[in-house]
Parts: sequence; structure tokens; C-alpha cells
Amino acid sequence: MAKSFEIILCDINDCTKTITLPDRETVAIGRNRYSRIMDLRCSRTHLMISSNFDERTVIVEQCGWNSSSINGVKLNKGEKRKIYENDIIEIVEKGNCFKLLFCSKDEKPSCSKRNKSEDNSGNDEISCKTNYCTSTLDHFLKDSIMKSEGVWKSVHQQSLVIFSSNKIESKEKIASFDLDGTIINTVSGNVFAKDLNDWKIAFPNVSEKLKVLHEKNYKVVLFTNQSGIGRGKIKLADFKKKVEAIIRKLCIPVQVFIATMDNIHRKPRPGMWEFLVENVRQRPENGNLDISYEESFFCGDAAGRPANCKLNKKKDFSVSDRLFALNLNLKFFTPEEYFLDQKVTPFVLPQFNPSLLSENASLLEPVTSKLVSKNQELILMIGCPGSGKSFFAEKYLETAGYIRVNRDILKTWQKCVNLTQISLQSKSSVVVDNTNTDKESRARYINIAKQFHIPVRAFWMKTTLEHAKHNNTLSCGMNAE
Ligand SMILES: [Mg+2]
Repeated sequence: MAKSFEIILCDINDCTKTITLPDRETVAIGRNRYSRIMDLRCSRTHLMISSNFDERTVIVEQCGWNSSSINGVKLNKGEKRKIYENDIIEIVEKGNCFKLLFCSKDEKPSCSKRNKSEDNSGNDEISCKTNYCTSTLDHFLKDSIMKSEGVWKSVHQQSLVIFSSNKIESKEKIASFDLDGTIINTVSGNVFAKDLNDWKIAFPNVSEKLKVLHEKNYKVVLFTNQSGIGRGKIKLADFKKKVEAIIRKLCIPVQVFIATMDNIHRKPRPGMWEFLVENVRQRPENGNLDISYEESFFCGDAAGRPANCKLNKKKDFSVSDRLFALNLNLKFFTPEEYFLDQKVTPFVLPQFNPSLLSENASLLEPVTSKLVSKNQELILMIGCPGSGKSFFAEKYLETAGYIRVNRDILKTWQKCVNLTQISLQSKSSVVVDNTNTDKESRARYINIAKQFHIPVRAFWMKTTLEHAKHNNTLSCGMNAE
């Protein structure tokens, strides 16, 4: 009986370039007319490929001397491997990447090149490419829905999206990983995926290592920042299908946490982990088990490594994964350390380390300074945004009866000046909780104090710029909650 679909190999970099595979016949893929591959590193019969439409599988046998790979796993000469839909075959290293697709025959006409006469754009290749990819992706998405093997849920206005495989179990030991650059890499070689199909398993032993963890009673969890979803650049529905396709490759139950916005859930902030381990409104994602921090760990590629410390020699784009682990008191590994057993590489942490702050440090310098005055006075806070002025003014001065004048609340400096004037006139002490970093700003308030013969003190925040940046990052995450 004729099948309603075709099995094709679709070139990752040019989806107009496809190779149709016949049912139950063996074809040679290589530098030949059939496969139209020109790469001299390919032999004419580089791979022998046999499809089975009933099983929806394809057997690939390596015949050429230069190794191919399937989903990043090397295929040696003489080796055979069974592959499935959406698997990626790299015919030779860094060249000729094809994705195995099952394509509906009904959709096929829109995949073929249109005549230029039908195309008003004058660019048949681009329009053809778009049609093809959309059609193929739709098919892929429908198929993924049918194969879904877990539950999706989203919380906190979709800023945290969680997938749990049907067979996932709560465990005391958590083996957690970043996704991009750790579990998967791009096929294109770009830092960021160019589309939803641009991924492959990052290291040959990823599945094997995760399987061992699963057998050793670990729960495998992925934590990934995907702010592109929050910004509308990636559709959540599409990304969910990508995650499901990745998990099918891993062949073990996995829980995935996706931070879609810049709030408390975005690494290095601890929100995703806390949602996993804490009993948040009776919705614990890991039962109510006590986590074994001794045995749990996190592995990620944003590790603050300088240039020339790893295979591709580029410096890490961020240190957020390492900081995530540091914030949570979790052991940390880079992907190369964990999957390739490489030695620990040097790394650079941000200059500011909150754990080095002393709780016993004096609040004021010099230590003999008085915090509040018995007599009426005007205090000018001075410091950059994030330096802690509002925290200080609220905690130590407002509670002591000072009127807090703040531009973030009042919106204009004129209103701040007005409130200062009224408050001093009514015999209250005032703290002006603005940056006040220039003479002109300070003069506005000093002149009012002079009118009322009120003494003025300045409280200058000695917070470092790095510390202030840290505070801003954290408060941004808290506010978004
Ligand atoms: Mg990453």
C-alpha cells in the first residue's frame, strides 16, 4: 500500500536541497549524482542508507574512510546505526549536515521550487525556502504533539515554564544541567540557534552519562534561560516541541525548567532551583524531599572561562551558570569537565562577591558618627542607583521620624523640593533619598535648609559600582516576581 509520506534527508543549511529515500532499498549517499554532494572528503559510497517506511526508521552504515556522525556521535567505518525522524547526519566532519524528515506527500508540492513566473518577489529561492521550512516544521510540530510524553505547566505569568516527563520521580539527588552549549549545540556552529531545528546533542556520551545518573537514583533536571520567548522572538509552543524532541533523544525521564523573562527565575538568580526544591504553595516539583547538596550538582557552559581555555578557544559569553551554582551552594562542572573529563579550567568571577561582605562591618564611617539627630535636620543621601540609599533611608531614618523625599515616588525634582520645604516648615527632619551626585541637585535642598536655619548632613554611600550592579540585578529579579 502506498505511503502517505516520504522520508527525506534535508540539508540543514539549504532546505531546498533534499534527498528522497526509497522504501526498503539501499542507496549510496556520497559524492555521486544521486546525493549531489561535492565535498572531496566524501567517497562515492560514503554512507549506505536503507529506509523502512513501516517502522519509520532508517539504517545508516558508514563505508567511507572519513567518519560521519549521527546527532554528534561519531560513526566509524563499518558501523551501522538505526536513526529516527529529526536525527541529524553529518556526512563528514563540519560538512554536509542533513536532517531526517518524514514529509507528508500532500505538502510536497509546496516544498518544490516555484517557477519564477509565479513568484512576484523575483527571489524564488527565499520564498521557496520559507514555504518548505514552515511546512516541514508544521509537520514536525503535529508529530511531536502526538508523541508528547510529559506534562507542561507554566507559573508566574509564564515567566517559568516546566516540563516533567511522565515517568519523572522526585529524588534527593539532583543532577542538573544547562541546555544550550551543554546538552545541545547548534548544528550551524552559531552561538545562538538560527532556528528550532538548529541543534544536535553536544557530546557523544551525553545520553550515556545521563542514563548512568538516572540508574544511580539521580533526578536529571535542565535549567535554561530563554528570554527570547519573553521578548517574543521565539514562540513558546515551538520551543516546547524542541524540548520534547531533545528529551526523546535522552531516553530517560527529565524535568526541564525554562526561564522566559528577566526575573528571579533567570540564572544566575535562584528562582528555578527554589521552585524545584521548595514547597511553593503546595506545588513542590520534587516532593518535599530534602535535597542532598553533597551529591547534587549543576553543569553549564557559561562558566567565566577566558579565551583559549577550551576547545573552540573563545571566552565564555557569561559566568551565569557558575554563579547559579555558587548562589545555590551546588557543586559546579563545565560541560568539558563533566562529559570529556577535562581538568578544571581557570575562570574569572565578577569583582563583587556578596559572600565576602562582613555582617559585623560598621554602618557609619567614622564609627563615632551619629545616625539620627535629636534636633531638626536635613540629610542628603548621595550615591549611585543600587547603592542602597532607599534601603538605608527607610530602615534607619524614616522609622526614626524623618520625612523621606524620593524622586522615584514623586516623579519630579520640583515636587521633591516642594515636599522638603513643607516638611521643614512643619518642623520635621527630612532625608532626601535621591542620587544627589551633582552640586546643582544638592544646592536646591541646601538653600531651603539655609532659609530655615536647619543644619544639613550628607550621607555618602560607599557602595562599589560592582556591588550596586549586583543590587540592581537582584532587585530587578525580585520586582518582577
Ligand atoms: Mg548555555
